Order: sequence, then structure tokens, then C-alpha cells
Amino acid sequence: MSEVRTRFAPSPTGFIHVGGIRTALFAFLVARQSNGKFILRLEDTDQKREVTGADQHIMKSLHALGLNYDEGPDIGGPFGPYRQSERLDTYKKWALKLVEAGRAYADPYAPEEIQAFRNESIANKKPFLYRNHRPENSLVWDGSKPLRFKSQPQDYTWHDAVMGNSHAGAEAIDDFILMKSDGFPTYNFAHIVDDAEMQITHVIRGQEFISSMPNYLNLYEALNLEKPVFATMPHILAESGNKKLSKRDGAKDVLEYLRDGFLVEALDNFIASLGWNDGTEQEIFSMNELITKFSLERVQRSGARFDEKRLIWMNGQWVKQLSLDDLFVRCSDFWGENGRESGPDRQKEILKVVQERLKTLADLPALTEYFFVRPTPDWSMVDENKQLKKLSRTEQIELLKAAETAFENLDDEDFLDEGKTQECLNSLLERTKSKPPILFGMIRYALTWAPFSPGLPETMRLLGRDETLVRIKAAIS
Ligand code: GLU
Repeated sequence: MSEVRTRFAPSPTGFIHVGGIRTALFAFLVARQSNGKFILRLEDTDQKREVTGADQHIMKSLHALGLNYDEGPDIGGPFGPYRQSERLDTYKKWALKLVEAGRAYADPYAPEEIQAFRNESIANKKPFLYRNHRPENSLVWDGSKPLRFKSQPQDYTWHDAVMGNSHAGAEAIDDFILMKSDGFPTYNFAHIVDDAEMQITHVIRGQEFISSMPNYLNLYEALNLEKPVFATMPHILAESGNKKLSKRDGAKDVLEYLRDGFLVEALDNFIASLGWNDGTEQEIFSMNELITKFSLERVQRSGARFDEKRLIWMNGQWVKQLSLDDLFVRCSDFWGENGRESGPDRQKEILKVVQERLKTLADLPALTEYFFVRPTPDWSMVDENKQLKKLSRTEQIELLKAAETAFENLDDEDFLDEGKTQECLNSLLERTKSKPPILFGMIRYALTWAPFSPGLPETMRLLGRDETLVRIKAAIS
């Protein structure tokens, strides 16, 4: 069997979002699992839509997510160039082959004339087909007019590794444009030429191309090309409803997720899970596991729901699995101002106690700043707490006063011993006849004024006796 070669073929028209990365990831996995090649090809034939810098951004995003390609515009390869605007001669060569074979012709009509045909079809309630207006005598194609494919309409049934078998009648086929009058090919033509020249074995792409499949199949035949494996990705749906994902609900730049404190591992894991699972309950997959376990046949046909809460959960799972040293390195850009200045030893000490609760690295300041600076009491947190709002302010203060007395009986050494402070807290619980969420919740707020914090013995150890007492007193007053 020939080597598996997959490609990711984005147009540099903006940043890549989750959907684009998923296509790239699946193509990457298919290549890696069979020791094949993963190729990046930039499809920049629509110069009007091009966005400056988008090409760099695409390459940067792929590298950032560990989707390193074996051939591409910046690294070259045996079938380059990998940027369509640099391959115009190739398309011309293939276009002329079709002209010679009588399978392509210059389009003689002005846009207004085509519009008139279209209007006529609408008036007659018939679908517009360009091929019904094929010119009798064809002009010589000199590049000044668009070049159209002379289709041979027929029924097709084809197989898609994800979507299964599809069927379309001859009416789905028309004489589409191969080369535009600006000398650039259309996507419809260029991708087939390039996939052939680059010996691509698997075409993995989004759903927007599925309705053009009959045209593509017709062109493969006209060019005498072997067809690759086709695999169409399911839509990614917004968190609620049935709309496709939009920028508002998560279709943002993937690099933004990294800046927002998501780990690469979690992002890849999450993106792979958008429409794929291995048939078991397993949810956390490393890249190596994805490479081993992924299969196109297990990609679902229906839309995949984008659930940001799930991404956050997954990220938390990945954060927990990191070694302390690794976590420390990854957090380096995420500390708050005071945390940054506190130095590596203190940072590691604190990371150790917050690791369990850290969902995204961007939560780090909120979760740790109170270790570095005395927080300002914010009683609205207490008032909004389900358990604590049942108590009057006096009752809340009474609990803090009892804690103050109990903590005053411990010395500096005792504070370093989490067993000792836990014991002290337990007997305080008995004495006040309170409940853990109430008593401990109240002390936690007084010490941190943060929505989440580590266990009290850990917090008290890291704050030390003096600071703990200062904060309790501040809350009381
Ligand atoms: N250039 C196309 C796009 O960005 C790629 C489609 C394909 O993968 O063939 O949508």
C-alpha cells in the first residue's frame, strides 16, 4: 500500500478556530498513526479574501498545538511549493490538458448575460444550470475569460469514511469554473490538482464541500485521477440550540485559548472529542493515545456540541496530572503582580496547594493573590453564600471570634503542622455546635475573601499564625 498522506488546506482569510483545528488534528492523527505524512497547503487563490498575516498565524497555531506538519510553505518538501498562489503554472498545465481533451472551454458570456440566464430559470421555476447554455463554438482560451469544465452529468454514489454512502443525481453536476480570468484557479479545480500532485490519500474537510462532491467526482474522472478517501467532518454546534458555532460561543482564535490559560494537552483532547470517541467511557486522551486510538470510522455524523464547561473540566483534569515542576513552568506567565515577585520557592509552595482547584491557568491570580497581599473583606460573598446567608451578621462574627480565641492558643510551630490545625478546627466545630460548611466557610472567607481556596489547614500553614490572626481580626472589626 502507498504511504498515507493527509493535508490541512486552510485559506489564509483569518485566524483558525476550533473547527479548523479539528480538521487539522484529525488529518494529523490519520497520518501519524500510519507513519504517513501530514501536509500543510495554503489555499490563497481568492486574493480578495486574503488577510495579511493569516498564513503566519495558521502556522503558529498548528505548531502551538503540536500539529507539526512534515511538508509546508515554510519548510518545503518534495511536492512544493505549498502555497497555491505559487503554483499557477501547474494549474495552467492541467487546465490545458482538459482543453486539449475537449473537457474545458472558455466562458464567452459577460456576467450580465449569465445573470439573465439565471433570471430566466427563476422565472420558469427551473434550477439554473450553466451547462444548458454551453456556447456552440468555443473560443480559444487565452486566459482573458474564465475557463469552464465541460461536465458529463451522471448519477453518483460515493463513500465517505465518516458520512457513509451518499447519492446524487445528474442535476447536481454543472460546468463549473476551473480558472478565473485573473489567472487564478478556483478552489474546486486547484484542490483536486494539488491533492493529485501531492499524492494525498485522504481528503479530510468540512461539510461545506459535500454538495460539490458530484462535480469533483466528475472532474476526477475527466482528469483520469484515482480518488482519495473522503472524510467529511460533522458540524460543531453552539452550546445550545442547533446553530453552528459562531465567534460568540467559542469559535475564537485557538491561540486565544492558550492565552486564556488552557493547556495544549487539554485543547487537543477537547477538540478531538468534538465528534469522536473511542467507544468507551474514557474522556482523557493524551496525544499518543489519540494517535493510537483515533479512527475516521468512529467520527460521528451528527453535529458535535461545543461545551466550554467541558473544556474547563478537562483542563482541570490535565492541570492535576502535571508534576509540580511542570505546572510551575507553565504558570510563569499567569501569576498576578504580587505572585510574580514572590519567587520560585514560594510560588511552588502555593501551586502545590491550589493545583487541585486550578481549572485554567488564568485563574491563578484569583486563586493565589490572597497569599501575597492582605485581601479587602467583601461581605457580599458571605451574603450570597447559600449556607452562610442563613446566619445573622452577629452570628457570623461570633464564629470568627471563637476561631480567634482558638487560634491564639496555637503557636507558630503549630501552624506549620496541618494535623494540629485540623485538630483545633475540629474541636472548635464541637464547641460552636456549627456545621463544617458554615464554620469553615466563614473562616475561609475571613482569610482569603476568594470564591475558592484550598483547605483551611493548608491556607493557615501558608499564611502563618500572625497573618491568620490579623485577617480574622480585620474581618471581625
Ligand atoms: N481551502 C479550503 C478551506 O479553507 C479547504 C478545504 C479542503 O480542505 O479541501 O475551507
